[in-house]
Amino acid sequence: MPVFSEEDIERFAQGLKASSKELATEYLMRADEGGFTFRCTPCPFLSGKTCRNYGARPNDCRSYPHLHKENAMDRLMGVVANYSICPIVFNVYEGLKRELRPGRLARCRHGIQGGK
Ligand code: SF4
Repeated sequence: MPVFSEEDIERFAQGLKASSKELATEYLMRADEGGFTFRCTPCPFLSGKTCRNYGARPNDCRSYPHLHKENAMDRLMGVVANYSICPIVFNVYEGLKRELRPGRLARCRHGIQGGK
């Protein structure tokens, strides 16, 4: 679940044409790691295979799966666990499979790109 900063809450609420207070009261709770997160899973703004507020999504959603953060390898099991639930997880996972498929890394390491 994404963690919202105060800035994320403001942007997300604007995307919904609601106030930050309305958003927080209806959907958010304090997160253990600081900031706020959704009260329930899956995300209440997931509609079918799309985000109902994609243009205003929080930074945590924008940077998923957080490969730039520490302990990225420790979180990969969470990616697999959410693969069948969240379309964003599915798309990221499938993209990583395409990018990291056997042979592609070796070709990239040897300076050969654009191969099959
Ligand atoms: S991107 Fe996904 S997790 Fe983030 S707000 Fe949208 S539906 Fe929810």
